Amino acid sequence: MSAPSDEPPVSDLITVAQAIKIIDQTPVQPRVVRMPLEQAAGLRLAADILCDRDYPPFRKALMDGYAVRCEDVAQPPAELDCVAEVAAGQTPNRAVNSGEAIAIMTGAPLPAGADGVVPVEDVETRGRIGEKVRVLRAATPGRYISLPGSDGAKGQVVLTAGTLIGPPQIAVAASVGATQIAVFARPRVAVLGTGSELIPADASPTESQIRNSNNPMLVALLRKLDCDVTDLGFVRDDPNLIREAIQRGFAFDALFITGGMSMGEYDYVPRLLAELGTDLKITKLRIKPGKPFVFGIKEGSGFVFGLPGNPVSAFVCTLRLASRLLARMAGGIVEERWMTGRIEAGLPANGPREFYQPVIRTVAPGTTSLRSGFASIVPLNWKGSADLFTLAKANALLVRGENEPPAPKGTVIRVLEI
Ligand code: AMP
Ligand code: MG
Repeated sequence: MSAPSDEPPVSDLITVAQAIKIIDQTPVQPRVVRMPLEQAAGLRLAADILCDRDYPPFRKALMDGYAVRCEDVAQPPAELDCVAEVAAGQTPNRAVNSGEAIAIMTGAPLPAGADGVVPVEDVETRGRIGEKVRVLRAATPGRYISLPGSDGAKGQVVLTAGTLIGPPQIAVAASVGATQIAVFARPRVAVLGTGSELIPADASPTESQIRNSNNPMLVALLRKLDCDVTDLGFVRDDPNLIREAIQRGFAFDALFITGGMSMGEYDYVPRLLAELGTDLKITKLRIKPGKPFVFGIKEGSGFVFGLPGNPVSAFVCTLRLASRLLARMAGGIVEERWMTGRIEAGLPANGPREFYQPVIRTVAPGTTSLRSGFASIVPLNWKGSADLFTLAKANALLVRGENEPPAPKGTVIRVLEI
């Protein structure tokens, strides 16, 4: 049976797992940009970063003490002449000969002739240059010494392409002199609301109007998901206005549209997307909340996510599904970030759609136990996909699979952090 020609090509209601597969298999072309290292936190490397020289570049002392020939202190106590000193940043000006010690500081290069470091803790008195040093314990060759290239050899990869740049990675890049780096740019995304009932949040609604809350919510969520976000505002349920707004949205890497996505008289969005040449890969989903979820590809432009107008549905679909594509568009990989905990109330059997419910997950203060399930999960009583106020009290969403059997109180379940 084929669909009438004026209808978009609609697939059947597919499972969340199938939708994830479609989204995860969609090719993406992350954009590469060069930027100063200090601006790159939160982005991902687009190219490997290599050691520009050996790390450390010399035999480095790891303790404050004395550089010695280990054979001289093999039978402690042993007295040595302190003949020189080398601090971090200095180059030793002479070698250690038999019977001699050179005072050395952490991070300084070991003088020639020395094969060990006696830490200050192992000497009786701290002799200065020209004084005697009495060593109380034998030194082991190589101990407290870091060998050249032992942290990284010249040319070795220290950060691989794809690595998320955080404080330690910035330190590594700085230490090898990589101050201008190639990274994947943040995806440029746009948010568009649709609905004739909408007014701006700072306007006074008449009885039948509601304030637009989806745009500000999605702008914040997409920023949290590391996107460069543009708010396109909202339009009335008028095909001409929606068409024009969608075309503006095509200028971005991804367009997020809320409202007008289902089967209502004035739900124009999927039809218009198809008419404008979007290849609709997903049009309906077995998810609760969030059934009228649309995912499409606009050739030569970018991606389109059509989200239900109901705020909780729009939130869940973005967090659970769109976030996966956004992660890859930013040069990353998809990471499943499940958390677990013990449920504080029994859950009934789930129906045929994957189900999400706001919960509060807490770990008792001072808890250090590694036992799994020590977090407690309190499901919140909520009224479904329009219940934004309850969503705002939650810190996670519990997830129940299709037709999952009842879960008694105390069951360890998985939740998605929000
Ligand atoms: P729709 O998906 O267009 O049928 O909308 C479903 C529900 O979500 C309706 O109650 C709408 O009023 C509401 N809604 C749609 N868009 C928004 C928005 N931008 N902000 C807040 N609520 C919305
Ligand atoms: Mg609507």
